[in-house]
Amino acid sequence: MQKLTLLGATGSIGASTLDVIQRHPERFSLWAVSAHRQLERLAEIITKYQPAVAVVADAAGADRLATLLAGVSHACLIRHGAEALCEIASAPQVDTVMAAIVGAAGLAPTLAAARAGKRVLLANKESLVMSGDILLEAVRSSGATLLPIDSEHNAVFQSLPDGFPHGLDGAGVRRILLTASGGPFRIAPLESLHAVTPEQAVAHPNWVMGRKISVDSATMMNKGLEVIEAHWLFGVGADRIDVVVHPQSVIHSMVEYADGSVIAQLGNPDMRTPIAHALAYPERIESGVASLDFMRLAGLCFEAPDLRRFPCLRLAYEALKAGGTASAILNAANEEAVAAFLDRRLGFTGIAHVVEACLDALGADAADCLDSVLAADARAREQATTLIAARMH
Ligand code: NDP
Repeated sequence: MQKLTLLGATGSIGASTLDVIQRHPERFSLWAVSAHRQLERLAEIITKYQPAVAVVADAAGADRLATLLAGVSHACLIRHGAEALCEIASAPQVDTVMAAIVGAAGLAPTLAAARAGKRVLLANKESLVMSGDILLEAVRSSGATLLPIDSEHNAVFQSLPDGFPHGLDGAGVRRILLTASGGPFRIAPLESLHAVTPEQAVAHPNWVMGRKISVDSATMMNKGLEVIEAHWLFGVGADRIDVVVHPQSVIHSMVEYADGSVIAQLGNPDMRTPIAHALAYPERIESGVASLDFMRLAGLCFEAPDLRRFPCLRLAYEALKAGGTASAILNAANEEAVAAFLDRRLGFTGIAHVVEACLDALGADAADCLDSVLAADARAREQATTLIAARMH
């Protein structure tokens, strides 16, 4: 029986994770859950899955959750705050931690899980983007296991030799090909992009996801973050990670080998596949995902990403090449810009402008300790907030 902590239980990855584990009560039990604002949803999850501990944002949220759970016979310890998140991620009772908080808020608990030697299922790509070196060092020194949940990285992982113990060169890998759907604006007229609304941007053609990652998919910053994530996960330079636009989202990513072979992982676009893969690895379990119906596929298309349309992808490659805290600056500026866009304080095309201006204004330092990463994150948020306010006037 694997005991799980599910960070971000009320989100989109949280819901898919709950769906997979409820299919296998003999394998998985939920020990702890976390949420931020959706307390009603969290109360439903606690009532159904009966975890021992739940963590929410603050004391008021904890009181409200206690009220919502009054009359529920199951006893669940309610905690709050960032420290409690780290505690449920590293507690001795836990084997596996699903890191599915969105954004930089996921960094500290993910790192705590890695330092405690857990099996870490990583959905929170932002933590690797911000501090890949630090997170991987924690994994190495504690003996933790890091398994990718992002469908692309999970696909790459599945297309590599088991565990690839001798690195990508030892495995004869030439390059990694990350597929990208191109999002909702792949063929929209360029001059129409400045008027895109949050509702249009979050309407992804193939995937149902949280709002922040949906906007990131529309700008292709998501693919940029994934390039950086792939660099850390697979130990490969930016020059060997290519992005291929594949609008059907059936091929989730590919690995090309020295002999010219290309191995791909295919399936319906449903996050329960990579979640089930990582939960059961190295075994395979039922995920609830329907079989891919090849007879009904209209075709598989591929094209190069248009960097004029998607400047965020270019910026992510540049940040990766710049090294140090550049990726943390990129990530923080993007989070602030996306939040402002969703809040209608910034136009869609303003997201890339704000990120680029922050990267230009703030020089990258060495990202050798958590303090320098967090300092870069804070400086970038301050700079982005100023730029967003200035653009409004
Ligand atoms: P959602 O927005 O759907 O869910 C985010 C979760 O994080 C919610 O449980 C939310 O709580 C919680 N949360 C939000 N802010 C905070 C905070 N400041 N502190 C603590 N918890 C917080 O996001 P997704 O599930 O879509 O994405 C989660 C992560 O997985 C992201 O890093 C994303 O990039 C990654 N990912 C997602 C994919 C997807 O298909 N959705 C695919 C691949 C990667 P509440 O809702 O209660 O406020």
